[in-house]
Amino acid sequence: MIDYAKNIQAFYERDDYKALAGQSGATAVEASFKDLTYIPRKTKPLPGMMAGTMLQEFALQPAQPTALYLHIPFCNLRCSYCNFYRNPFEAEQVEEYVQALLAELDFLQQQGVFAKQRPEAVFFGGGTPSVLNPAQISALLNKIHSAASLADNCEVTFESSIYDLSADKLDACIAGGVNRFSFGVQAFDTHLRRSLGRLNAKEEVTGKLEEAAAKGVKVIIDLIYGLNGQTQAMLLNDIGTALACGVSGMDLYKLQILPKSPLGQAIAKGNIKYEYNDRMLAEMFVAADALLAEQGAKALSCCHWAMREDERSGYNTLVKSGANIITCGAACGGHMGMYNYMKTMERSDYVKKATSGQYAVMGMGKHNENYLLLEKLSGQCDAGKLDFALLKQYSDADWESLLAPLLEQWELLDLLYAVDGKYYFTAKGKYYYRQMDRVLLTAAECALYGKPGLMEQAGQKMMGIMKNMK
Ligand code: SF4
Repeated sequence: MIDYAKNIQAFYERDDYKALAGQSGATAVEASFKDLTYIPRKTKPLPGMMAGTMLQEFALQPAQPTALYLHIPFCNLRCSYCNFYRNPFEAEQVEEYVQALLAELDFLQQQGVFAKQRPEAVFFGGGTPSVLNPAQISALLNKIHSAASLADNCEVTFESSIYDLSADKLDACIAGGVNRFSFGVQAFDTHLRRSLGRLNAKEEVTGKLEEAAAKGVKVIIDLIYGLNGQTQAMLLNDIGTALACGVSGMDLYKLQILPKSPLGQAIAKGNIKYEYNDRMLAEMFVAADALLAEQGAKALSCCHWAMREDERSGYNTLVKSGANIITCGAACGGHMGMYNYMKTMERSDYVKKATSGQYAVMGMGKHNENYLLLEKLSGQCDAGKLDFALLKQYSDADWESLLAPLLEQWELLDLLYAVDGKYYFTAKGKYYYRQMDRVLLTAAECALYGKPGLMEQAGQKMMGIMKNMK
């Protein structure tokens, strides 16, 4: 029998919690927990060669929420803020990679991975999937349909840049069942876009969005806030431009300054000075959130808004609620049953393994029985709404009582508010949701397992260092 109330005291005794409790103002949560890296405590590391066991166990599982992800790690251009850029476009390498993806889909089907699971979402991500030519797009979509029985109304999303989704690629996607396009617009202002390495002018961007929307498919865009040279007025203007183009949904992301990106390196060397602090970024986000609400957009999460009824952001919702994510490709991670896994980072290694009948996993972990509880809690945080009654099927603990001191503190900081036993994030809370997520999961793990032991702390520290090095 777990003594949750006693265990969670280890969380309330943490210095970063005490610092939070002693502070007020919008940035208290940032100041208190800024160095907190959440590393799951009870995931057991396993070597990648155990992938066969994972596939065998997964093939026997009853049907569960599942998505399929295909990673296309090629880009024609490198964006200044990007850490994920891996391979410049090279036609022969892309063709070789597509053949490996086709072989991998066949292999997964033969292993029985799709026998009981019907993917509710398929996502082509990258990199830039729109580097594929129409024949490659059709081949992959046809293979997916023959290998797996997709759920009715399966959401099939294709991530694309503006500059290389030609009319024939667009048509190949739609003919193969793509019903949702996600464009990484980031900003509409031509000058600002070019400073990021995105060459299309505003008029070309709006033209491409309108062309896709006119086909009747869903058109989603990403916008970034906090770019040097971008004022709040420019951000709000961009939201207005997107709505005028008839987009179906929008993601709004804070600029992440990643150390290995060209932008991160330029800032580190002092060649560029970053203009914004946390308070300014929070103000920008709050203004954008208010405008979207005023325009009738529905917030599906802390960073995604829907402009039409049938936009559900299915893939992201599945990812953030513990669903199975079957991945094809290099340098991408997923989750099957009780395991998570990471595929090999190197394209050539992936091609060699996928074409010789191996699932190219470089490392994996096995969860314990609390995995779904923690994933559901994290998913609620991502959605900006905590409803502890929904956790009852995963745990016998009274989470509302256990977390009450933290929730009260967050109410005082105007990060959330309570209505009828549910907790809704304010706009400020939505701005801080990633940090609140790490804090909540850390608190929940304390309630489940008590204070981490010395070995556990050392292991977490090591994994945290490795995570920050990526
Ligand atoms: S942000 Fe996307 S499109 Fe730009 S370089 Fe990175 S992976 Fe490629």
